[in-house]
This record gives sequence, structure tokens and C-alpha cells, in this order.
Amino acid sequence: MIPGVRLVLLGRQGAGKGTQCTRLARHYVVPHISTGDMLRTASKEGSEFGLKAAEIMERGELIPDDVMIGVVDERLHKDDTKNRGFILDGFPRTVVQADALASITAAAPVDLAIDLDVPEDIVLGRLAGRRVCVDCGANYSEAAPPRYNWTCDICGGEVVQRADDTDSSIRRRLQLYAEETAPLVAWYLERDLLATVDGLGALDDVTFRLMRAIDARAEARRAEGMNRAT
Ligand code: AMP
Repeated sequence: MIPGVRLVLLGRQGAGKGTQCTRLARHYVVPHISTGDMLRTASKEGSEFGLKAAEIMERGELIPDDVMIGVVDERLHKDDTKNRGFILDGFPRTVVQADALASITAAAPVDLAIDLDVPEDIVLGRLAGRRVCVDCGANYSEAAPPRYNWTCDICGGEVVQRADDTDSSIRRRLQLYAEETAPLVAWYLERDLLATVDGLGALDDVTFRLMRAIDARAEARRAEGMNRAT
């Protein structure tokens, strides 16, 4: 186990980021920071901010950059992330957010951004069949439901279709991914911070590929550090 990873997970909606981030967070013992989950929690709590965010999310649009940057800046200054690192899921989503993240993390920069690659025709099918637990966010699908009557196997919460997994919202989110988020693949590549991982196949196989990419980067960093020290 390598403590202290600082990761960004990129990838289309439905690529499996949430599920894989949960597994990676457990393995590397770092917080999984999902901006989508943070916004859904705020919306469930019914604050003015949460209700406004819910309305934007349901349409498949993006929350304004300055708002999201403020939320993530605050979260990354908490002790757990400062001491152990983080896995960011759903942020950055625009070049403005990527620039801001680089400033926020200037003292302890991101180690690696991973593009979890799943083709658009596959994610379309996955999103239409996706079901989630309203309490803990665990992912299920029509093809792989929870064991008992749409009740979460992990926490007993109700398992439902996400409000933004409608046809029109899915189409809009994928369009925004292509326009606003896909350019981040080149952004991280230019900074020698990108790994692309095939997101197709069994969950365990994908987790293994992700861990291999993360561990290879950590190993390279360690070797670099040793060379500098000698
Ligand atoms: P996700 O769960 O990552 O698919 O996010 C669900 C929704 O939350 C998105 O479709 C956006 O409306 C909003 N959202 C999450 N993260 C961000 C972000 N970094 N920037 C803007 N909007 C976001």
C-alpha cells in the first residue's frame, strides 16, 4: 500500500468513476471526493444552495466554475486531505477548474490524472440502466440490482434512478463532457500527468489496471526523488 496519493479521475459519465474511486480510496486509504455526491448531499439537505444546484444538475448543466472551485478549495484544506491525499471524482471538469486546482495544490501537486476510457455508445447504455442508493450513493443497475426489493445491500437505503439520468440530461452531460472536460486529457498530458486506463471489462480487472498505473507513477516519483538525493 502506498499512502498519500493525490489523484484526479477523468472519464465520461457512466465510465465507472464512482465505483472505482470507492475501491481506490479504500486501497490507498485516502478520501474520495466526489463533487457530484457533495452537491447531491446539499440538495437532499434542502439548503438554498442545494436546491439551486439540484435544478442545474437535473438539466444536465454545469454548476458555475467559481462555486465549484470554492467548494473544492475548502474541502482540500481539511486535515485528512492535507495529511493523506485525495481522489478527486468529478473535478476538475473545465480548464478553468484545472488551472484553479493546480494553484490550490501548488504545495503538494496532483500525482496523476487518469482518463478512465469507456466509449460513448457503452456509457449511454450504462447510464440508462443505472440505479443508485439515495443514502450512500452505491451504484447498481437494472441488470445487477440489489438483493432485496431495490434496498441498498450496503446501507439499506432506497435504490432509485438518478434525477439526471433522463434521456435529455444524459445527452447534454455527454455533450458538455466532450466540449468542456475532454480537453483536460490534453491539459494533463502536456504536464506529463496523464495515464489512460481502459475502463471496459470486469470491475476487478479495471481496479487492477488503475492500481498498476498509480503504483507505476508512485514508483517513478520515488526513483526521481532518490536520484535527486544522490
Ligand atoms: P456527477 O455525479 O459527477 O456526474 O455530477 C453530477 C452533476 O453535478 C453534474 O452533471 C453537474 O451538474 C454537477 N457537477 C459535479 N461536479 C461538477 C463540477 N466540477 N463542475 C460543475 N458541475 C459539477
